[in-house]
Amino acid sequence: MSYDVIIIGGGLGGLTAGAVLAKKQKRVLLLEQHYILGGAATIFKRKDIHIEVGLHQMDYGKYGYDIKRDLFDFLELDKKIELISLPEIWGVVDKNKKYVVPQGIEEAKKYFISQFPSEEKGIKKYFNILKNTAYTMGKISYDMNFFQFLTYPLIKFPRVVKYFFHQKSVGEILDKIIKDDTLKRLLNVNFVYYHDNPYELSWYYHALAQYNYYNSAKFIKGGSYSLSLALAEIITENGGKVETMCNVEKIIVEKAKAKGVIYKNKRTQEQMAVDSQYVIANCAPAMLYENMVDEEYKDKSLEELKESVSLYTIYIVFKQNLKKIYKNHTHSTFIYNDGEFNKPFIQMKEGLRHKNIQDRGFVFVDYGVIDSGLHIKDDDKRSVGVFCGASYLEEWENLPKEEYIAKKEKLAQDLFKKAEKYFPDLKEYIEYYEISTPKTIKRYIKTPSGTAYGYANNSFLRKGRAARFSKTIKNLLFTGAYAFPGGGFTGVLISGYMAAYNVIEPQWKYIIRRTCIIAFVCIFIYIILNGLEFFK
Ligand SMILES: Cc1cc2nc3c(=O)[nH]c(=O)nc-3n(C[C@H](O)[C@H](O)[C@H](O)COP(=O)(O)OP(=O)(O)OC[C@H]3O[C@@H](n4cnc5c(N)ncnc54)[C@H](O)[C@@H]3O)c2cc1C
Repeated sequence: MSYDVIIIGGGLGGLTAGAVLAKKQKRVLLLEQHYILGGAATIFKRKDIHIEVGLHQMDYGKYGYDIKRDLFDFLELDKKIELISLPEIWGVVDKNKKYVVPQGIEEAKKYFISQFPSEEKGIKKYFNILKNTAYTMGKISYDMNFFQFLTYPLIKFPRVVKYFFHQKSVGEILDKIIKDDTLKRLLNVNFVYYHDNPYELSWYYHALAQYNYYNSAKFIKGGSYSLSLALAEIITENGGKVETMCNVEKIIVEKAKAKGVIYKNKRTQEQMAVDSQYVIANCAPAMLYENMVDEEYKDKSLEELKESVSLYTIYIVFKQNLKKIYKNHTHSTFIYNDGEFNKPFIQMKEGLRHKNIQDRGFVFVDYGVIDSGLHIKDDDKRSVGVFCGASYLEEWENLPKEEYIAKKEKLAQDLFKKAEKYFPDLKEYIEYYEISTPKTIKRYIKTPSGTAYGYANNSFLRKGRAARFSKTIKNLLFTGAYAFPGGGFTGVLISGYMAAYNVIEPQWKYIIRRTCIIAFVCIFIYIILNGLEFFK
């Protein structure tokens, strides 16, 4: 059997590419090595309740500012999943002060101004730059109507060029427009979702996600697995095939062109070779070049790229819903060491690596605040939550088993203690908990450094950030956190959308075709207006 496209990996990037291609009548085979789909976008079951692996919240912007909106419409995902708006974007607790940032761009802006009146000018400017940046990346060329396509070179393209040549970090921009250190930290509170250093994190990535978060932050009812499952369904409903427990071992390459894959079915131990015109890889490029192709096809340029920070997570089942116990309790609460929020922002230039893991700050996500759909039994009064913070593989990888377990336990106890300052007696409400580390992530989704965020977002469109295609093997494309535009739900969904379109019709061909049509239409209108004068 031969396919148009084989996809290696059933993370969100791979599933999205597969769903779009299948809807466009391509014959798709998606192979996932794990027994369950979704990669980091999945759930697991403990104590008769579902626990969300990855999704705390997903940014959801307006049309024209968030490519995902066009993608969701194209796939008619509203028929398959339910998005739940969080009551607020997030909360932050520090010593005796609590900040709660409301949903909505105008509301959030007003809130920050009310908390920091002397910074009104800077806050307005910040939101303005955020908006302008998000606007440049709000649509892929395939989704633009003629008017948008026509005006793109005048309105958006110059900005893209500007961002490309004048790369700025989040730290640099914040230092320029805002003075208050606490405010800078607040605007950057969730930076660990993209990086461990705001002075290295590209402004572009911060802006794209933050602007859309302020518009609306969502959770997916039933957990992120509902989205993964919906995408898999779209593939199969449109004639494609999705296989779990199938580990791709090799990419078949002939004359520097991808021709298919060899995979092992882990259930039957059978090895199979399947042909295809294209291969889309949702696995980490470093793993692919290391294990799946011959030495001559290795892309050495990727070795220079730094991997993103990873995360530890403490998954918790609470005996009862905490919403009723703690007042003004938010879905996501960022908890930092006392006084951290008043420290000079410039100190963040040192990054997080040198800090003790317990001192890096963490987020407490309580899914009990919303109707998360994670319950299995309708009358279950319990709830699920996570504590999550920055970590690195080397902090865990080589520890002997007992030390590894002890270190995880110490981390959990330290964080419970810190959280109890703001959530008194929290430990009493815990029924069950377990801890995952970058080592766990590496084991499940097979990324070299145990990150789910791909390469560090240090620059916009430079180097590997734009690695949507293999430089050494034709017809091999990438999707997911390691491909443009990077990790996080939105990033990988967009990367899948782009990979699919690049198979259907490469972007340069599409642009030439559209430009020719526009030129033809312009000439036609000119002739109509000027009559036969044109031919004289
Ligand atoms: C704890 C945690 C919290 C997070 N919170 C958020 C959040 O709140 N908001 C947000 O936007 N993002 C969040 N993220 C990030 C987000 O989940 C990821 O960036 C995204 O899901 C990665 O998708 P991906 O397409 O890169 O695929 P991945 O999830 O990396 O999946 C890749 C898949 O490929 C498979 N694979 C690998 N090698 C092979 C092979 N040889 N053969 C077959 N299959 C293979 C793997 O098994 C895996 O299923 C979080 C991540 C984590 C871990």
